Amino acid sequence: MRTVGVLALQGAFVEHIAALRKLGAETREIRLPEQLEGLDALVIPGGESTTIGKLLVTFNLLKELKNLARRGVPMFGTCAGMIVLARDTTQGYDQPLIGAMDIVVQRNGFGRQVDSFELDLPIPKLGEAPFRAIFIRAPYIEKLGEQVEAIAQLPDGRVVCARQENLLVSAFHPELTEDLRLHEYFLSMVPEH
Ligand code: GLN
Repeated sequence: MRTVGVLALQGAFVEHIAALRKLGAETREIRLPEQLEGLDALVIPGGESTTIGKLLVTFNLLKELKNLARRGVPMFGTCAGMIVLARDTTQGYDQPLIGAMDIVVQRNGFGRQVDSFELDLPIPKLGEAPFRAIFIRAPYIEKLGEQVEAIAQLPDGRVVCARQENLLVSAFHPELTEDLRLHEYFLSMVPEH
């Protein structure tokens, strides 16, 4: 059995919990450092990255999560969660980040006019059927470090899903669809004990 924490300070954490439970994982809402004890993996949901970052500082979680990432605990960040895991944003705006993944992200990368859209995204790792990807004021990955593998790209080449060892990020919201394949892929990164 694996216990997957879902950061529950702000944003779309309920839907992640539902998806993980459907896949048979034990889940735990994370709001305080002591709740990280014995965790096998962590999901950082979408929401507002500046708010999530500030709350991480307020609840003394930022340093703890940096340590957890460094120790190799698998983490999955979606949308704002992807921003929080990134080493930087192109805006260079001073917001608290876990910063564990060697990517630079463009926040609100699709402009105001199309701030939300859906599309069938090919994700070869998940099989032949495309993934219905929902983007909501989404970021994209502008720069990828050498150890970062692009997992999905838009038709124009922008990277919207990537992995670096124990870290997985997506610019879209897999928890808002019925398709569990990306969560399943994440769980495959989590050793069972
Ligand atoms: N635009 C948000 C941010 O910059 C992310 C949006 C989302 O998570 N759906 O944090």
